[in-house]
Amino acid sequence: MTAFVKDFRGDLNGIENKITHGSGVFIDLESIFSAWCFSHMLKEIVLSDDLFLKIVSREIPADIVYETSSVLAFRDINPQAPVHILIIPKIRIPTINDLRSQQSELLGKLFLAAAEIARDEGISKDGYRVVMNCNEAGGQMVYHIHLHLLGGRQMTWPPG
Ligand code: AMP
Repeated sequence: MTAFVKDFRGDLNGIENKITHGSGVFIDLESIFSAWCFSHMLKEIVLSDDLFLKIVSREIPADIVYETSSVLAFRDINPQAPVHILIIPKIRIPTINDLRSQQSELLGKLFLAAAEIARDEGISKDGYRVVMNCNEAGGQMVYHIHLHLLGGRQMTWPPG
């Protein structure tokens, strides 16, 4: 990163770093670059603190109930139903908004895992709920997408 910053600064020094817009407004490339660096550093800090990736790497213990090469499922630490299991991809995808079209197969695998785990937990026939929260208003607290598989009791609607 430091080497990259140096290179980028070198490039900036090589060109005029204040460009005049048509209207006479100056665009300060150095300020734009600083803002870009800050947002990327912030993103790195948030991602390196990905709690669920630490469960994937076994840095943090969890009650794991299902695992494939791309998907992991474990019991929620604060269960909201007799069965409350979180199903996650093993790669970093912070929110539903960050999903890419090439990840649609992976997303399908999360749902297939939910159905398989529901069968194993004996809640398939009675029924269950699968939920994915997105961002603050959606109630998301851990920024690594996860399906909540909830069952073993009657669910109500609307959800809180
Ligand atoms: P959400 O609010 O949709 O982001 O859900 C995050 C869920 O992760 C909550 O239901 C938490 O109880 C659960 N959770 C947080 N930390 C852990 C952990 N270390 N092991 C298992 N579940 C966790």
